[in-house]
Amino acid sequence: MEHLIERAARDLVNSSHAVALTGAGMSTESGIPDFRGPQGVWTKDPEAERRAYQGYQRFMEDPKGWWEEVLSMPRTGLLGDLETRMPNSGHYALVELEELGILKSVLTQNVDGLHEKAGNKNVFEYHGSFAKLRCVSCGLRFRRDAFDIEKLLQEKQLPPRCPECRGVIKSDGVFFGEPIPSDVAQHSLEEALKCDLMLICGTSAVVYPFASLPRVARQRRAVTIIEVNAEPTPLTHEKTSDYLIQGKTGDILPRIVEEVKKIRE
Ligand code: NAD
Repeated sequence: MEHLIERAARDLVNSSHAVALTGAGMSTESGIPDFRGPQGVWTKDPEAERRAYQGYQRFMEDPKGWWEEVLSMPRTGLLGDLETRMPNSGHYALVELEELGILKSVLTQNVDGLHEKAGNKNVFEYHGSFAKLRCVSCGLRFRRDAFDIEKLLQEKQLPPRCPECRGVIKSDGVFFGEPIPSDVAQHSLEEALKCDLMLICGTSAVVYPFASLPRVARQRRAVTIIEVNAEPTPLTHEKTSDYLIQGKTGDILPRIVEEVKKIRE
């Protein structure tokens, strides 16, 4: 394990455009469950996965009914109360790598906002954010509290409408079957094509199209792909990644940063 941590630190120091790709495993140490790990929401409740697949269709068919249903449910969803969750040492390690000028961007599948909360500046939320809303027509994003949704419910004005184009507003979080917003999809693809190092943290790498990004990067020879994950993934088995450092991101990422600093001294 120690030699892999040193190897990752050397690879990071020698890179000129490193990007991090992150998933739900990054936030389990902040008390947010993942979906497919041993304690994952869907591992324990496969029925919840089936329901999740129907969300986008329900919204598109009846956005007013969808909003009414959301407002009738408890505020804390499948992942608990995300507003109260705090970043962990893994998130802060990625902030340090950005501040050291090594990490150029974080592409995350997470909707919990913890990378930004930790202090990373260049974050792309591939699956959106629980704290934002988005217009399905023009793609503009808004803070969740920019709309008084309860008032719209009482005044029978649901669904909320975009102040710019009058399009229907939904939560920013991307549903299964919903296209990835074009701005983040394009930027992420550009980063996958440009990077010379990809640090993949806490993802099972089975949710597409995000999971295609490492495969796109792998098509170029001059790229190093490192996984930090609790267990091997399809990227490990098919050798898309050069090596896996198996363990917790909250433990391993800070150790990599310590090695990077030693090399830089
Ligand atoms: P996943 O649940 O499919 O896989 C998580 C992976 O991380 C697993 O391989 C697991 O073994 C590993 N893992 C768990 N804890 C870890 C730790 N501390 N250190 C290292 N590895 C750890 O997650 P995914 O690949 O991100 O796909 C799930 C989808 O669901 C994503 O698209 C995401 O949008 C969404 N989701 C988001 C959150 C969040 O925002 N925090 C949480 C759950 C699910």
